[in-house]
Amino acid sequence: MFNKKEHTKQSLREWRKHNRERVRMHERRFYQNNKEKVLDWNREFRKNHPDYDKKLYLRRKKYRQSLEYKVKRATYDQKWSRTHREYRNYQDMIRRMRLRKVKGSFTLQDWQDLKREYNYTCSLCGRKEPEIKLTIDHIIPISKGGTNEIKNIQPLCINCNSKKGGEVLTNLYGSL
Ligand SMILES: [Zn+2]
Repeated sequence: MFNKKEHTKQSLREWRKHNRERVRMHERRFYQNNKEKVLDWNREFRKNHPDYDKKLYLRRKKYRQSLEYKVKRATYDQKWSRTHREYRNYQDMIRRMRLRKVKGSFTLQDWQDLKREYNYTCSLCGRKEPEIKLTIDHIIPISKGGTNEIKNIQPLCINCNSKKGGEVLTNLYGSL
């Protein structure tokens, strides 16, 4: 039979799950305005549930051992290390350019926008990410007086970038 009370409880739980930020904000605001009351409640609750912390600890421990957690964690780590690596490479490049007193600079966001404009495609061989990894290439090499401005940048896969070396080559989108 349809249980209205149970149903409301269920949908409230669903709503809370999908509006975590809002719930947290409300709780924070409520706590700010009712500090004493909340602390009292908590004390009272802990007195009536002496093994609550232990249970919570065990539940979290169990969750950390679950496949769901492991998958989530691995995806997060992978994503973090990918963005972090990209950021580090970018920083290295900017540092090298500054040392060589090369004119111009661009942000990591500029580079990400550029990759999107090129549809994540290598300008020379036409292969796409994630099959290949795109690297920053100076269309007119720095050694030939090229600048480090975004208009002198194109994405190339590692293969094409190392093959290109110091040469100025024609790209997929017309000659230079
Ligand atoms: Zn390529």
